[in-house]
This record gives sequence, structure tokens and C-alpha cells, in this order.
Amino acid sequence: MKGLGATGGAGLAYGAMSTLGLAPSTAAPARTFQPLAAGDLIGKVKGSHSVVVLGGGPAGLCSAFELQKAGYTVTVLEARTRPGGRVWTARGGTEETDLSGETQKCTFSEGHFYNVGATRIPQSHITLDYCRELGVEIQGFGNQNANTFVNYQSGTSLSGQSVTYRAAKADTFGYMSELLKKATDQGALDQVLSREDKDALSEFLSDFGDLSDDGRYLGSSRRGYDSEPGAGLNFGTEKKPFAMQEVIRSGIGRNFSFDFGYDQAMMMFTPVGGMDRIYYAFQDRIGTDNIVFGAEVTSMKNVSEGVTVEYTAGGSKKSITADYAICTIPPHLVGRLQNNLPGDVLTALKAAKPSSSGKLGIEYSRRWWETEDRIYGGASNTDKDISQIMFPYDHYNSDRGVVVAYYSSGKRQEAFESLTHRQRLAKAIAEGSEIHGEKYTRDISSSFSGSWRRTKYSESAWANWAGSGGSHGGAATPEYEKLLEPVDKIYFAGDHLSNAIAWQHGALTSARDVVTHIHERVAQEA
Ligand SMILES: Cc1cc2nc3c(=O)[nH]c(=O)nc-3n(C[C@H](O)[C@H](O)[C@H](O)COP(=O)(O)OP(=O)(O)OC[C@H]3O[C@@H](n4cnc5c(N)ncnc54)[C@H](O)[C@@H]3O)c2cc1C
Repeated sequence: MKGLGATGGAGLAYGAMSTLGLAPSTAAPARTFQPLAAGDLIGKVKGSHSVVVLGGGPAGLCSAFELQKAGYTVTVLEARTRPGGRVWTARGGTEETDLSGETQKCTFSEGHFYNVGATRIPQSHITLDYCRELGVEIQGFGNQNANTFVNYQSGTSLSGQSVTYRAAKADTFGYMSELLKKATDQGALDQVLSREDKDALSEFLSDFGDLSDDGRYLGSSRRGYDSEPGAGLNFGTEKKPFAMQEVIRSGIGRNFSFDFGYDQAMMMFTPVGGMDRIYYAFQDRIGTDNIVFGAEVTSMKNVSEGVTVEYTAGGSKKSITADYAICTIPPHLVGRLQNNLPGDVLTALKAAKPSSSGKLGIEYSRRWWETEDRIYGGASNTDKDISQIMFPYDHYNSDRGVVVAYYSSGKRQEAFESLTHRQRLAKAIAEGSEIHGEKYTRDISSSFSGSWRRTKYSESAWANWAGSGGSHGGAATPEYEKLLEPVDKIYFAGDHLSNAIAWQHGALTSARDVVTHIHERVAQEA
């Protein structure tokens, strides 16, 4: 289950839990969200109604945007000087001092960037609906590329060898099909399959594995060519398959199921110009007058008139009191605020454990991955600490581009976390060049890295709920359920309170849920 959550996304992990009967069956149904409109509050409910939103990430900005539609007076307090929270795009001019005190300045060329946090959006996520509503242009994002490489250690001749996904898939599917067909033909499945079933299965396997007439996998043009087919009598030279036992024992197919995941299956999308475009668009619609950037919240308390929040901005202490507060500050940081939250709520917040993840982007002044490896987008995967190398999905065929030299999580990210940027870069280049060769070490013009455990105002990539088995789904533990309910006038929102943890969709649906709850309450109490 842990593996499903880590690589397959929330939907897959949660779906699998439901199938296994582990997911809650009696959980309270989510509130039905209907976008608010001016007439829902103004003229219907007396008086003015105010909400202070703590945090200007996806959950905070979405809450503010939806509440404003009905005429609520909303103030967003955001500690950083930019919107988006963990949706953070590094481009020329980005500057960040991490919790170790190291300052990096990003000097990528004009128009080049990479997303240090959120980078892709599945078709089912409401993130795409907000892109439509806010007029944020989107483009395709490659979660799968037959030309990228897999490279794993194993006790076989394939150990440490870079193999294209297309070759790894052709051989794995080919041999699996051959074996299953053989077993079927030899009667191993006679207890479960009729003659007709076996014929249909054989037909499928012959096609799926590209088998010969006598049911063997002998290689396939699907693997690719040593010399490409071309004009006239140039039929090309097909690459030869690896041996069956080598393919099985090397585990080169270990990442094939990644894009089978509900949340990772193609097509995937991303905003043109960086994921943060969505939150700059939210900011424009909410109005910068209603968002205080550089406002670090230090205190949040229920009081008789509502909720009083204290913060520092521009070097001075300030305070605001509103009817309600929506707190989207990451759960493990909330306990650091001065507060009058009950003990069981503070205990519940502590059950959301922080996690490690990070990326490093290298700008190359030559797109060798396109000209030499014929790779246009997608990622190479490995069991080295870098985990994967992601290729740019923009500026195709131009003269430069930003490669994400690692995107690793958990233990593999911890191997980078305590390093300086220069050390991270050296390690990333050393491991990457074992996959893509010596060219990986040349034509580097600049680089920038981010490690979420070391990033101020986050100190975590995403929450792992104690007792959830590490999946990206919210867990129906008492602590999780506790935070779904308000503490008097204080509401909690964020991806950690959803079944799409580590997805913007989770933060946005959580925001909608809280907005609906507050509005129902305001209407009832009127
Ligand atoms: C490495 C990585 C990869 C990801 N990949 C994807 C992806 O491909 N697709 C996808 O959809 N999602 C992805 N996500 C998840 C996505 O970024 C989160 O789900 C989303 O940002 C959660 O939004 P949020 O508002 O709940 O929290 P946050 O984004 O964390 O926002 C919380 C806000 O609170 C602010 N804050 C903190 N402390 C204070 C304080 N004291 N005072 C005031 N403000 C404060 C923070 O600055 C921040 O802006 C990824 C995340 C990471 C880290």
C-alpha cells in the first residue's frame, strides 16, 4: 500500500484501500459544493461577514476566491512574498534562503524554469477547472516517454545499464505473454478457463507480446532500432532482445505501473510558463488589497467576537479580528502559533507527520537529450538517490532548457537534504552521468535546488498521517477526523485534510468543503 501511495498517487492508493476493505466505509459524506454567488449572502443574510485566511497557498487562495463570490470580506495573510505555497516555480530572479541559512539565486535564462513543487495535473482534478475559470493556459505534460531510460542495479548483465522504456516494455511484455501463453497451452489454467476463453487469451497475448506464430517472443520492432529505417531499401536494424531470465531478474519493469495510477495516467497537463501561474491568477482575481504578503502569523485565538490573528509584517506587529478564520498553515507548524486550541486538536495536528522531497534543476545550454538521445519530455527512472531525471516539456528544439536532475522523496531525498547546493549538484551530476553519459556533465549554465524539509513556512513536502500506512489518502483516524470539524470559529483546510494529499486537487476540494461549511453556518445563524 505504501508503494502505491508513493508512486501511484492518492486515487490509486485510496482505491486500493477501498478494494481491500481498509478504507472507511462509514465516513461522513463530503458536503456538496456549489459555487457561491452574490445573492447567496448579500440581501439574504443581514450584516457583513468577514473571514481571515491564514496562508496564501492553493487552499487559502481558493477559499478566499470562493468566499468573495458571495460578498464575504476576506483577508489573506501569507508569510511568503509570493502566492502558491508549495506550488513554487523557480525562474531567473527567484531567491531563497533555506533553513540551513544558505541563499540561492536562480539565474535561469528568460522564459526557462522548473516547478520545485507541484508540476502536473491529471484530467480528473478540479485544478483544471480553476485553470479554465481563471483563464490560465495549459499544455500537455509527458508522464510517460518510450525514449527515456530505466537504469537499475541488479545481479544481472543489465545492472547499471540504461535501457529505453520501449525496449524494457517490449521485452517484459513479450516474455510475460510467452510464459502465460505457454502455461495456458499446457493446460495450467484448465480449471479456470474454457476452451473459448483460452483461445481469446492466446489471441490477446500474441498481440500484446508481439509473439511469433509458434507463441515465442523473439524481439520486436517495438524495442527500437540500432539504425533507423529510412528511404528505399533501408529497412533499419532492429535492436536484439535481452534474455528472458535477465529481463525477469533485473526488474527493469518495476516502474511500468506508475502511469497506470488513476492520478498519473496520461494525458496529464500543466500551465504554460509554470504551475505558479494559477496562483498569480487567483491573486489577481482576489485583489492584492485583500492579500497581505510577508505577513507571518504568530497567534490565532478564538475570542468572543470571532477569531483574532496576530502577525508580523514589515517589521511591525499587527492584529486582525474576523468572524471566522480558515487556517491553511501546514499542520505540523500550527502548534507553534500562540493559540487557545484544545489539547486534543493540538494532538491531532501532531499526527500529520512531515515528509521529505526535493528537486534540483540544471539549465543546459544545449538540448543534448533531444539531439543525441531523441528524448522530448518525460523522465528517466533509476534506483539511485536522484530517483528520476525529468526532461523539459517546453521550448522543444530550442538551444537550451532546464532538466530536473532529481526529484526524490523519503530516504533518497534525505541523502540530498543536508548537503549544500553545490554538493547536491555534484551528486546529481555524478549519478545522472551514469545514466545519460559524459554529456550530462557538460554545457551546464546554472542550477537551483529546493528541499522541502529545509524550506521556511513548509518544512515538509506533504503530510503523512500517523496510522495511514503512508498513503496519499486521508486516513479515517480520530486525529484526521478531528481536524475536519471547526474549533469554534477556526476551520482547518489544506491537502492534508483530503484524499488527494500531495495534490492541489486535495487543497482545492478541502477549501471548497470549508467554504460550504462556513456559508451554511452563516446562513443558519442569521
Ligand atoms: C515536491 C512536490 C511535488 C508536488 N507535485 C504535485 C503535482 O505534480 N501536482 C499537484 O497537483 N500537486 C503537487 N504537489 C502538492 C501541492 O503543492 C500541494 O497539494 C498544495 O500546495 C497544498 O496546498 P495548501 O494550501 O494545502 O498548502 P501550502 O501550499 O503548503 O500552503 C500553505 C501556505 O501557508 C503559508 N504559511 C505557512 N506558515 C505561515 C505563517 N506562520 N503565516 C502565514 N502564512 C504561513 C505558506 O507560506 C503557504 O503559502 C506537490 C508538492 C510537492 C512538495
